Amino acid sequence: MENFKYLKPATLEDALSSKSEYGSKANFLLGGTDLFIAMDKGVIVPDVVIDLKGIKALSYLEEKDGFIHIGAAVTWTELIDSELIKKSIPSLWEAADLVASVGVRNSATLIGNVCNAVPSLEAGAPLYIRDAVVFLESKSGKREVSIKDFFTGVKRTVIKEDEMMTGLKIPVVQDFGEVYIKMGRYEGEDLSQAGVSVFVDKNNNYRISLAAVAITPVRATKAEEFLKGKKLTDSLAAEAAELALEAIAPISDIRSSKEYRIHMCRIMVKRGLTACVSRMETGSPALSTRLI
Ligand SMILES: Cc1cc2nc3c(=O)[nH]c(=O)nc-3n(C[C@H](O)[C@H](O)[C@H](O)COP(=O)(O)OP(=O)(O)OC[C@H]3O[C@@H](n4cnc5c(N)ncnc54)[C@H](O)[C@@H]3O)c2cc1C
Repeated sequence: MENFKYLKPATLEDALSSKSEYGSKANFLLGGTDLFIAMDKGVIVPDVVIDLKGIKALSYLEEKDGFIHIGAAVTWTELIDSELIKKSIPSLWEAADLVASVGVRNSATLIGNVCNAVPSLEAGAPLYIRDAVVFLESKSGKREVSIKDFFTGVKRTVIKEDEMMTGLKIPVVQDFGEVYIKMGRYEGEDLSQAGVSVFVDKNNNYRISLAAVAITPVRATKAEEFLKGKKLTDSLAAEAAELALEAIAPISDIRSSKEYRIHMCRIMVKRGLTACVSRMETGSPALSTRLI
């Protein structure tokens, strides 16, 4: 690993000033579980690393004005420990519970996962079905960006070189069922081969999102429109799962063949639909029940 200058600002203002000064030569640091691996491999070679973990203003996790707000410094473990996340965003809670292992989750963050922007990101499917909005800030101002407009490609996002993601917000909804299903090669420290989130509300509005099966997460809008207003049956779930496959463009890589990803997405969407309807109506299956 090359030498670099290490900064640990105590305030957001100081962190943004440093980023404004060093631009693309500086990288923000949260848990470091992606950044340090990239630096070790020489994929990212920053002159400056700006550690954000000392900034108290980035540690919020709260419900405010109809949204759940999650600050940049909140770790996966803090999300798992939060009753608010468990109750209000169960698909994100289930995803958090499946990231890596306890040791990684204790330092790694949701926001680091989003900023790293690999196709297999665990946060992708849960944030897409809940229409999350990310907060970007620089010395010259703030803006909010819908998660669906945030990713522009593999490890590419709309973040400008002087901007920081300070957090994100997710709309609060009532009377719904939601589920996240991860396909990995084994339990523990493995990235997703595919990740699927499914949502339904009392009016039979359905949302389906998939990650690790295209260069960015996707919403299966054709399948959602097909199901809109209908009470789910086995055959409707099977038809919707088939339609959902039109939204994905998986590749073959070391973790899975393209064909296996397609085959399993069909099963995951169908089981996800059945499970989220059942969860809304009966509270079962319990969170973290294995569905594949
Ligand atoms: C053993 C192991 C297992 C893993 N398993 C999984 C898994 O199961 N699922 C999964 O999705 N991921 C997994 N990962 C990847 C990683 O742990 C996650 O992506 C994690 O959430 C990254 O968060 P972090 O806080 O460590 O980010 P960091 O490494 O600190 O940062 C990630 C990137 O985002 C940039 N960045 C950080 N903060 C900001 C900010 N506020 N604004 C703008 N840019 C910023 C950094 O400069 C860096 O480029 C694994 C990693 C390891 C090492």
